[in-house]
Amino acid sequence: MIDMTRRDVMAAAGGLATVTLVGGAAHAADPGRKLGYAIVGLGNYGANVIIPQFKNCRNSRLVALVSGDPAKAKRIAAEHGVPERSIYNYQNYDSIRDNPDIDIVYVCLPNSMHAEYTIRAAKAGKHVMCEKPMAVSVSECQAMIAACKQAGKKLMIGYRVHFEPTNLEAIRLAESGAIGKRRYVRSEHGFVQTNPEAWRLKKALAGGGSLMDMGVYSLQAARYMTGEEPVSVYAHETTDRRDPRFREVEDMIEWQLEFPSGVIASCISMYSANQNHILLMGEKGRIEMEPATRYEGNHLWTGKDGREQEITSLPPGPRSTQFAGQLDHLSECILSNREPIVSGEEGLRDMRIVEAIYRSAREKRRIAL
Ligand code: NAD
Repeated sequence: MIDMTRRDVMAAAGGLATVTLVGGAAHAADPGRKLGYAIVGLGNYGANVIIPQFKNCRNSRLVALVSGDPAKAKRIAAEHGVPERSIYNYQNYDSIRDNPDIDIVYVCLPNSMHAEYTIRAAKAGKHVMCEKPMAVSVSECQAMIAACKQAGKKLMIGYRVHFEPTNLEAIRLAESGAIGKRRYVRSEHGFVQTNPEAWRLKKALAGGGSLMDMGVYSLQAARYMTGEEPVSVYAHETTDRRDPRFREVEDMIEWQLEFPSGVIASCISMYSANQNHILLMGEKGRIEMEPATRYEGNHLWTGKDGREQEITSLPPGPRSTQFAGQLDHLSECILSNREPIVSGEEGLRDMRIVEAIYRSAREKRRIAL
């Protein structure tokens, strides 16, 4: 089960403004303190999506940058008020340990670098937010969890959709029984990859193809829309290996998950079509989102007896709060010594299923989980 209580959901949606302080004396003495984030990797997600969100945060601020491109780091630092002394590169990264402004390291690097930079951050005494997919193997996920535990630091995965009001409302509706007994899920995520040289198409950096990227959204949705853990998986891959984009990684992969209640989920991810859709079908109707997991503009509606109802009055907070909600959630967990709702264990659960999906596609058989 995804460990998400109603209180957590409300907090994630921005509905709870208070932080319960049960942590260390330093934090309790300074409850208004904003925790400092260092962003590692100033690519599209780190620089263009995450960094601009700190202005919307209650408990988090940007204090440091780690980049292989000094000119870019200097420019972004100047734009966001980060002192030059808090710019690091991949060689001197470990010296973040000496910077007390940095509480949290946010790893926004290619997938195969997540484990190394998470473990080094924990060893430097910092909490970690790590982008999805958590890593490229179960063993890497386990090593990351162990390193953070040993250092006494929190580890959270950048599963922003758990803070996205449309998806939170869809989960609430599913749990409320609005569509009766849950029967099946369809979850489809993909986009058209145009650049054959992209790191996402290199096995050594991405760990896999569309499954390691958009597939994580399909898999996550199957789990949070059912509220159950799958017991088996059956997968099938369709990739044109003559296409220069797909020499090393898969394009399209679909998989079916079976859940203990009898619910099934049909999931797909691809790098050759633009799709972003989640459907939960129940005995009395359906809950549907399209687009479902975009940065903004997601749409949710229910359908019953042929009647559609678009859900527009969502829980508190504008639709774009998912990023600030995610950043502040980890800060609040640190301040109140709670586990994040999307912890390292949650990333590990997904990676176990991802490995089983690849195995099922390879061996062409159902894999018990
Ligand atoms: P990107 O290519 O735009 O950025 C990657 C960054 O890593 C760049 O700054 C690049 O210079 C740096 N880097 C360091 N070593 C590298 C190497 N050997 N090869 C390539 N780049 C290297 O990628 P991105 O879209 O920012 O993705 C980064 C991470 O964020 C990925 O794990 C991705 O899955 C994740 N992501 C998550 C979301 C989300 O919605 N949660 C969205 C986009 C990306």
